[in-house]
Amino acid sequence: MPTLPIYLDHHATTPVDPRVVESMLPFFSTSFGNASSKHHSFGWSARDAVAIARRQVAELVGADPREIFFTSGATESNNLAVRGIVTADTDRVSHVVTITTEHHAVLDPCRRLEQEGIEVTYVSPKKDGICALLDIERALAPQTRLVSVMTANNEIGVLQPIDRISELTRSRGILFHTDAAQAAGKVPIDVKKLGVDLMSLTAHKMCGPKGVGALYIRRTRPRVEVSPIIEGGGHEQGLRSGTLNVPGIVGFGTAAELSRLEMKQDTVRIRRLRDRLYSGLLGRINGVKVNGSLAERLPHNLNVSFDGLEGESLLVGLDDIAVSSGAACTSATLEPSHVLRALGVNDHLARASLRFGLGRTTTEAEIDYTIEKVSSLVARLRELVPHV
Ligand SMILES: *Cc1c(COP(=O)(O)O)cnc(C)c1O
Repeated sequence: MPTLPIYLDHHATTPVDPRVVESMLPFFSTSFGNASSKHHSFGWSARDAVAIARRQVAELVGADPREIFFTSGATESNNLAVRGIVTADTDRVSHVVTITTEHHAVLDPCRRLEQEGIEVTYVSPKKDGICALLDIERALAPQTRLVSVMTANNEIGVLQPIDRISELTRSRGILFHTDAAQAAGKVPIDVKKLGVDLMSLTAHKMCGPKGVGALYIRRTRPRVEVSPIIEGGGHEQGLRSGTLNVPGIVGFGTAAELSRLEMKQDTVRIRRLRDRLYSGLLGRINGVKVNGSLAERLPHNLNVSFDGLEGESLLVGLDDIAVSSGAACTSATLEPSHVLRALGVNDHLARASLRFGLGRTTTEAEIDYTIEKVSSLVARLRELVPHV
């Protein structure tokens, strides 16, 4: 019997690895200095620690440390990328291309730009959640300045063909940003191989602390110009002012390093558990439907719908398992997720869906408990629905 409650919501956030906590502690106490203090050793040790973390984060994604800019997380990195690119060149008419299944941290800045007169095209993915290259290509125009397509989706875990999309953008001189908040630390990522110009990262999705992230910005061939959205003391090469969150950045560095070193073995174990969960549910429940491509997917994600039941009761019944549903609670109603809608999943089925996010601490006993609990709950809920 596993310890309850069980945490299977690792796309929302992850527990901080104890080794990460350990690495952060000195920077709250003995080494509390401001990394910008140039005239004493307190500042120097903070600065040195930040430099190490910058290298660790860069190494995870194959970047040069000078291309890593620390932020407060992927939300800020996405805002900085989208707005910062468009506003860096106000002389040009601008056009942005993105996809309908992006995180709100990309979609909302795009909507804001539209209000300011920038044209944005939202490309719909295919039914499996993956965008067709031809659809991206069709959306490109002579005035297109930026394409933003996420590496992995936070709800359905689907991986986009980033390296293929970058071939389209590069040959046209269009900048390409990808939100890799979910993918980094889970699947191998190399900014050079992917051919991206900007990439958003966040620590708390890879067993690091909340409130710290980074934006990768390519500095050669071509050097990418980005305008800051937060100005002040000129930190981070003037691109992101504000006293650096040294403990957070150190923790991010450690988390990135651990992910890089342990990704391979973690992935094998977690994928096996995910597949066990999926086949366990399939074996016990009829009418289980996977949302999004199963093949092109993060190893720790499963998103499934159950037909023939009222989705509202699903989460209520899973009181000792932390998962997310395919709908977000807005006031009294369950609003189906924009991602499932974009895949053409009907609202009823979207409400009756669950997102399982496995992680470094997930055990086989937890998965087996979850299989039993979910399958008996689904059976019970189906009995409550009058059959037609
Ligand atoms: C979690 C997440 C974000 C937001 O990151 P924060 O660091 O929490 O701001 C953005 N995009 C994706 C895909 C995410 O999963």
